Amino acid sequence: MNTRLYFHEIFAEHLTGPGHPERPDRMKAIAAALEAETFHLLDRVEAPEGALESIYRCHPEDYVRKVALTIPEEGLTRIESDTLVSPKSFAAAMHGVGAATAAVDDVISGAAKNVFVAARPPGHHAERAVAMGFCLFNNAAIAARHAQAVHGLERVAIVDWDVHHGNGTQDIFWSDVSVMYASTHEMPLYPGTGAKTETGAGNIVNAPLSAGDGGEAFKDAMRERILPELEGFEPDLVIVSAGFDAHWRDPLANINLTEADFDWATAQLLDVAERHSGGRLVSLLEGGYDLQGLAFSAAAHIKRLMTG
Ligand SMILES: [Zn+2]
Repeated sequence: MNTRLYFHEIFAEHLTGPGHPERPDRMKAIAAALEAETFHLLDRVEAPEGALESIYRCHPEDYVRKVALTIPEEGLTRIESDTLVSPKSFAAAMHGVGAATAAVDDVISGAAKNVFVAARPPGHHAERAVAMGFCLFNNAAIAARHAQAVHGLERVAIVDWDVHHGNGTQDIFWSDVSVMYASTHEMPLYPGTGAKTETGAGNIVNAPLSAGDGGEAFKDAMRERILPELEGFEPDLVIVSAGFDAHWRDPLANINLTEADFDWATAQLLDVAERHSGGRLVSLLEGGYDLQGLAFSAAAHIKRLMTG
């Protein structure tokens, strides 16, 4: 079975304005890196449009309506302080949701061994009824709920190594023991949540890192906190909120990971998926704002997904 990649031209048509870090060039940088011969066997599929029903499992209908109504006919509108939308933004977000849910379908049906979704806007800061941090809809949360509601999976783990804490995912699953949310992130840093003491119903595992930390601290956090909890949880599906802004080159944070660290972490999560989830792993792009750091890290991650 193959590793599948979901992409769509519309992901580069979600415009955020001059100087915004979450920009269309991020898609082009990843696409360029994936032209290397290593990736010729990648099963590339255009992202389908998602269903509103799948979004309503995580976000109220009136919030989704509010997002839709905020989309301008031309130019840009600020939906909140950091998050701008343009005429194609809602359609881009809908295809991001569609790819995330299709990825779940694929790993469960066996159409793919694992899947990477190269979509924007990202999702992990989107709370139930709040757009924030460049995010409109929480793709990882929607994928987890889709796996449970449509496919009957019981336990879904979401592992988030974006350098920012996924406050939205934590918010959505705060009191839901059927979903484990585990995150490494720099702290203090935007959005301010993610302390070790935030444990939800025992299903939230936060392993904050400090500014200046590198691969060893990241691996320790994974080995000592996140991987043991994942083992105990025995997930039926592993979802990765794969941000690459903990890369040393990234301008928005100060954690010093390299491509090799993302490769290592990918291998660890593949092991967990192999032991508990029949190998089922869905990885969704979140942040990553240095184009070279993003592209090389995503490539290392996807290469490991392909080779196991
Ligand atoms: Zn981030």
